[in-house]
Amino acid sequence: MKARTRFWLLCILALIVFPFSSVTAQESGPVYVVQPGDTLTAIALIFGTTVEALVVANNIDDPSLLIPGMELIIPGYEEISGVLTIREIGYGETLSSLSFRYGVPSESLAHLNRVISPGRIYAGQPLILVETESDIPALLKDSLLLPRIGESKLELAVRTGTSPWSLTTLSQTEIRMWVVPGIPLVVPGGGQWAGALPHPILSVEVEPLPAVQGRTTVVRLELNQPGWVEGHLEDRRLNFFPLDSHQWVALQGIHALADPGLYDLEVQLYTSEGGEMTFAFSQPVRVREGGYGFETINGVPAETIDPGVVEPEEEMVASLLSPATPQRYWEDAFQFPSDYYTDSFVSVFGTRRSYNYGAYHYYHTGLDFYGSGVPILTPSPGRVVFTGSLAVRGNATYIDHGWGVYSGYFHQSEIYVSEGDFVDTGQVIGKVGGTGRSTGPHLHWEIWVGGVPVDPLEWVEKVFP
Ligand SMILES: [Zn+2]
Repeated sequence: MKARTRFWLLCILALIVFPFSSVTAQESGPVYVVQPGDTLTAIALIFGTTVEALVVANNIDDPSLLIPGMELIIPGYEEISGVLTIREIGYGETLSSLSFRYGVPSESLAHLNRVISPGRIYAGQPLILVETESDIPALLKDSLLLPRIGESKLELAVRTGTSPWSLTTLSQTEIRMWVVPGIPLVVPGGGQWAGALPHPILSVEVEPLPAVQGRTTVVRLELNQPGWVEGHLEDRRLNFFPLDSHQWVALQGIHALADPGLYDLEVQLYTSEGGEMTFAFSQPVRVREGGYGFETINGVPAETIDPGVVEPEEEMVASLLSPATPQRYWEDAFQFPSDYYTDSFVSVFGTRRSYNYGAYHYYHTGLDFYGSGVPILTPSPGRVVFTGSLAVRGNATYIDHGWGVYSGYFHQSEIYVSEGDFVDTGQVIGKVGGTGRSTGPHLHWEIWVGGVPVDPLEWVEKVFP
């Protein structure tokens, strides 16, 4: 064969073996599983790419045909492999702890999420994460698995619901576990567990996350060793109480008119009550809107919307309801304080209110029930801390349920209890009337948590904490 012919044959062969790369789909990179309702434009926006790049990387013929469950390679992140998921991160999670948990470099997570300030990752923030097929067991991805002082591998296995076998397997793979308090997990290369909540806090749970306007937030702390816990949500001091020697819990209402956004949640650990502070950690938590409506109420007595009357009464009530009794009197969900309700309420919690054609400066701080002269029933055990006649509330009763939780009953026609009385679930404490700021007889029922009124319905629907 002549040299020239051989040259052309080689050229043709080369084209067969190495086709033009521009028409082939990309083969590496992270994968996103298409969800119902997704569009290419939305996916491109989430992952900081373009529709054109997605079309090329995935060899898509018809961009309008996007089937849920379809796997798309996301271009631009060739250094990452695995399935991309989006979830709201928990309190105490940082880019480095997520990097460890998901087995993905924190630079890659920062790149994926276009995070500029890794220090400002907030609890409740939706982040793009990567589920890899690494050997890290699911339990490590789901929780901070940290041993307590003196806890053996077997005890740790029992407490965390895993098997001693899987913990042994763990120690033989990429992660070695040391049953030494404070240095719970050591990765090869000498790098230590990079969670933002080090020894001696095992975990901090914030529920719900994001927190919601007008709802009760539960902050739960699990400790590695006995200690004393304090905390603040922005400038409001949290009422932490121990459940046992290792678990602490605080209940805090989020104001119904609080601006949606980020609020700093700080936890501090002391050796004992009044002792030395050993640890402090702060991270912003997101508060979202409660989705409340608007209503107009006209014809209430003028003095009940006079700031000179309203403000002193609000201050008196706020100071009455600010102490947190260390004893918790309730064990179950609260009951409705009235048998007289059908499936609707006169007015629900959180509604923005205008009185007598005024501006929407007010909001409804409780739940209203129909009925005139019907009995008012104690929803849960507690101690009566106030009975009396107030301009706005009319004849009112407040009950302390412990742990900073109080309930209030307004517009009563009759009051049957006195300050200091201990009342039990179902006990009749008075009768429904129309006294105070009211346009007709009804029962207004409130629940306050940590000095803030919250939606009473959630206290009927679930058992706190
Ligand atoms: Zn009301």
